[in-house]
Amino acid sequence: MLMKIEKARKIILERTHALDIIDIALNDAASFCLAEEIFADRDLPPTDRSAMDGFAVRAEDVINCPKQLKLIGETAAGSAECPNVEPNTCARILTGAVVPPGADTVVKVEDTEENGDCVTILESAKEGLNIRKRGEEVKKGNRVIKSRQNLNAAQIGICASVGKSIVKVFNKPKVSVLNTGKELFPLDGDCEIKDYQIRDSNGPALAAALKRSGFKCFGMETSPDDPQILEAKLKKLVANNNVVILSGGVSVGKYDFVPDAIKNIGAEIHVHGVLMKPGKPFLYATLDDNKHIFGLPGNPLSALTGFHELVLPALRKMSGFLKEDCCRKLFLPVDRTVKSKNFRTEFHLAKLVNSGEETLLMPIKSHGSGDLISSAEADGVFAVPANTEIKKGEKVEFTFWE
Ligand code: AMP
Ligand code: MG
Repeated sequence: MLMKIEKARKIILERTHALDIIDIALNDAASFCLAEEIFADRDLPPTDRSAMDGFAVRAEDVINCPKQLKLIGETAAGSAECPNVEPNTCARILTGAVVPPGADTVVKVEDTEENGDCVTILESAKEGLNIRKRGEEVKKGNRVIKSRQNLNAAQIGICASVGKSIVKVFNKPKVSVLNTGKELFPLDGDCEIKDYQIRDSNGPALAAALKRSGFKCFGMETSPDDPQILEAKLKKLVANNNVVILSGGVSVGKYDFVPDAIKNIGAEIHVHGVLMKPGKPFLYATLDDNKHIFGLPGNPLSALTGFHELVLPALRKMSGFLKEDCCRKLFLPVDRTVKSKNFRTEFHLAKLVNSGEETLLMPIKSHGSGDLISSAEADGVFAVPANTEIKKGEKVEFTFWE
């Protein structure tokens, strides 16, 4: 029943598909995955423009310097009118301004001296100096962004610069979280917490992990270890969401009712038990091929590891990411030797440290999967394959808990 994490991930990614395409206002499109190609609606820059504050001149006039030219006017960014630069004249020009007719070169202000209605050009300048040519960045009609990109700030800026106020993106899955366990005490509980109770940290942590990854937690529920209540809550959440993430109750204990509840609502279990530590009882099921249910173990580090390694790739796939972009890993060296004598892939908490020359992974000691406090300084986890020794300086796969 236990399967390798790579196989579990493959099964999950094969069963998750991009959702529908929607139109969205550019201002709301960040972190959505683009479902169209974006083209330049005009040449960029649209005209020859100055890259500097200075004076627009004719290069032939400033071959021998110093050379005095008559100042005939000015042009600034946004000016519609430009003076005509005749031989032996120049015009003041500000960064971003259209290069006036007649001029072919901009001499930066530091290389000039202004006196009254004349300007002395101190340094000779080659034709075209400090001018950004029309269409230099991109020609009208050329593609500026490929489809299937998870829109970042720069890409949003590019869309704006080519006039795309509405873009086509893949819809994101509607995700809700269901935390199970009789012992759970809510953060805003109005009575005193008892020694046999623990605060529900998975709920807020998973909601935060969703948010940090560009997803929203639409609903958050808690269920005691009661088969009827659990089943009813699960059924309702599955009906109203694309994805339901459960935490706790997913293993083989007497009060672990999640697997049965999943079967009882008619869902099919594809993965139950993964060769990973922490996170072994991980479960993945589907209902009608388009509802996805993930069962994470209740231990907080198991839940977060399972989320980042196996749930997040699925959410990205459903949001239109290309398969190869769904599971982002960094390859980084460890700052000390790490050994695993385990038959499962181990995930070790680590902090990114900068040695001045390179970025290293510093493993963080933990007292096990229930020790959430140990993760306070962690940037993510790195994988140590089963029964392997990773030598200091060797590179490992690191998952950023972004
Ligand atoms: P379980 O997977 O239900 O066997 O739970 C494993 C451990 O995780 C137990 O010690 C639980 O008390 C703890 N646990 C379960 N759910 C949560 C939660 N939502 N927040 C914090 N700890 C939890
Ligand atoms: Mg439990």
